[in-house]
Amino acid sequence: MPNVSLNRPAARPLSLWGAIAGAKCPRCRQGAMFAAPAYHLARFTDMNPHCPHCQLRFEVEPGFFYGAMYVSYAFGVATFVAGLVAVNVLVAKPVLQHYLGVIIPALVLLAPLSFRYSRVLMLYGFGGVKFDPQVAGLTTKGGNPI
Ligand SMILES: [Zn+2]
Repeated sequence: MPNVSLNRPAARPLSLWGAIAGAKCPRCRQGAMFAAPAYHLARFTDMNPHCPHCQLRFEVEPGFFYGAMYVSYAFGVATFVAGLVAVNVLVAKPVLQHYLGVIIPALVLLAPLSFRYSRVLMLYGFGGVKFDPQVAGLTTKGGNPI
């Protein structure tokens, strides 16, 4: 019996949303953008300079990820508003300490995710990098499926 899996890629690339959720390279959707897990507190900011699968340079131009601060700011505002709503819904007569007790821990605990996903969304939204099935190993040079 012939082994039909020889010509197939090692791993099937993710969908767009799966790649964003997994912080994968926007070109091949297989290589990890970050070098360590999100809640590895000493290294959650460590980003791979290049995609380990297709060698795409993630910082597409110098200072590119400064723009991610605006995305991170939006995440912070969304967390703040969600905390306000949660306290107003869950507490009968909320006082300032209730708001501070919910919003500040939420902002601190979600900081690694905010950092990462602001960079991921910046790269996917403004990086100008499109998914390439050939780089992902799904098609041949002529565009035919493998
Ligand atoms: Zn890649």
